[in-house]
Amino acid sequence: MNLTGEQIIGNSFSKLGTSTFQGMQADSGIAISTPFYEATTTEIDLAIAKAKTAFASLRKTSDEKRVLFLEAIAEEIMAIGDPLIEMACLEAGLPTARIQGERGRTTGQVLAFANFIKNKTWVNSIDDPALPDRQPLPKPSLFQKQIPLGPVAVFGASNFPLAFSVAGGDTMAALAAGCPVVFKAHPAHPNTCEMVGRAIQKAAKRTEMPEGIFSMVHTTSHEIGGYLVQHPDIQAVAFTGSYRGGKALYDLAVRRPIPIPVYAEMGSINPVVILSEGLAAHGASLAANFSQSVCLGQGQFCTNPGLIVIQKSDEAFLQDLATQLDTMSLNAFLTQGIAQAFTKGCEKLDQHPAVKRFTTQAIPSPSLFVTSAQAAMKDQEILEEVFGPSTLAVVVEDQAEMIAFIESLPGQLTGTIHGTIDEIKAFPELIEALSLRVGRILLNGFPTGVEVSPAMVHGGPFPATSDSRGTSVGTQAIYRFTRPICYQNFPAELIS
Ligand code: NAP
Repeated sequence: MNLTGEQIIGNSFSKLGTSTFQGMQADSGIAISTPFYEATTTEIDLAIAKAKTAFASLRKTSDEKRVLFLEAIAEEIMAIGDPLIEMACLEAGLPTARIQGERGRTTGQVLAFANFIKNKTWVNSIDDPALPDRQPLPKPSLFQKQIPLGPVAVFGASNFPLAFSVAGGDTMAALAAGCPVVFKAHPAHPNTCEMVGRAIQKAAKRTEMPEGIFSMVHTTSHEIGGYLVQHPDIQAVAFTGSYRGGKALYDLAVRRPIPIPVYAEMGSINPVVILSEGLAAHGASLAANFSQSVCLGQGQFCTNPGLIVIQKSDEAFLQDLATQLDTMSLNAFLTQGIAQAFTKGCEKLDQHPAVKRFTTQAIPSPSLFVTSAQAAMKDQEILEEVFGPSTLAVVVEDQAEMIAFIESLPGQLTGTIHGTIDEIKAFPELIEALSLRVGRILLNGFPTGVEVSPAMVHGGPFPATSDSRGTSVGTQAIYRFTRPICYQNFPAELIS
């Protein structure tokens, strides 16, 4: 595929910008040849104007036509073949098998949304008939259903160059809902973005979608990203990435004259609580499996188990875990920036007077840090996410301190309990405390690996996300881009 580094604006391409940037090979930092043009406000305006016109057309288009579009997207992504896998591996520094799996997950997700909207019930209609004889006043007929919000801006993440990027869950949920998307490509993998963006453009043309249903812009300027979020015709924003980026875009969106919803998935350290009987039953395999989960994808997962909560009496497990982590090697990070942030985060914990490092390889390396609950509750900086293969164990004196510590945690995507059914039953405060802090609670498993399924919740209380009422994975993600409307006293033939 011939890549040009241009913006994709509906069915055409544009390069009005004068400055450019290049994608990098993640492992060597060597630039990849194609220059990518920084988008201008004129191009953003044009993409959004086309999205607005496309939205008006889409309102008159059947769900069946969008199903064909989504199915065509999956086909066009597969049609790129190996060059897509090779480019994503090059830009993200991830192994071929991982990227192949991620492509399957991405197309599977697209088709899951296509199947979801094939069933007319997806609009969640509620038919509440009239009661003309009701006393003292008759009741009108009421009919509720979900309708799309309008054009949506999507900011993809660096850590899943396919599944949380151009054709990721946010874009597909919005398109399935009937919302045009203006996608802001991640500068960590612009070549991969262009390949997938072109596939979506091709699918849109092939299935005769209204022009502007999808556009993609490249920029490394936060001003331009902010301009997109503040544009009056953008009706919602989806974001996956850092707390700093997500919160900045959220603040811009709520300060607009007409504020709009922002679904930002930001940081999470994903507490894993290890109880004594569970540890006694599975201790040996737990250390090995835990270290695998910490290092999966070089630890660059939003669901990475970055926090262990363990009682003082069980502290010996941490030595086993450190031994396991010391056998693990460090691979390329997604970007030079993430590599530097990992080293800085590890060094900061290493130098903290209340934190001990149990692993022995030189920093940067897969790491286990240990502190007390009292220290972590006193200085919340200890709990800051270190994005990469690192985990922090917080040692609690007893169950009461465990609950107090969990209650002190900021919102998280996941919380995990390792224990026997009997000991968890005897300690009901634990499930309750974790449930109020997380979007997904796991038993005797690991949070890495997020199933794309109707019941999945990939979300959670702030700051894990900016809106805990939704999920960014699974078909329910569609409802972040719809709103309910009620028709009062309307005959069915007038409701479209
Ligand atoms: P990021 O720096 O937040 O960037 C995500 C996207 O938002 C990029 O396109 C970025 O553009 C843009 N952006 C960031 N700040 C912005 C602002 N103030 N205004 C406008 N646009 C903005 O995330 P990342 O590059 O994926 O990874 C960096 C860090 O994010 C990691 O170290 C990790 O801590 C965290 N992270 C979290 C998750 C998660 O799932 N929650 C996933 C990946 C990463 P630029 O690149 O041009 O800034």
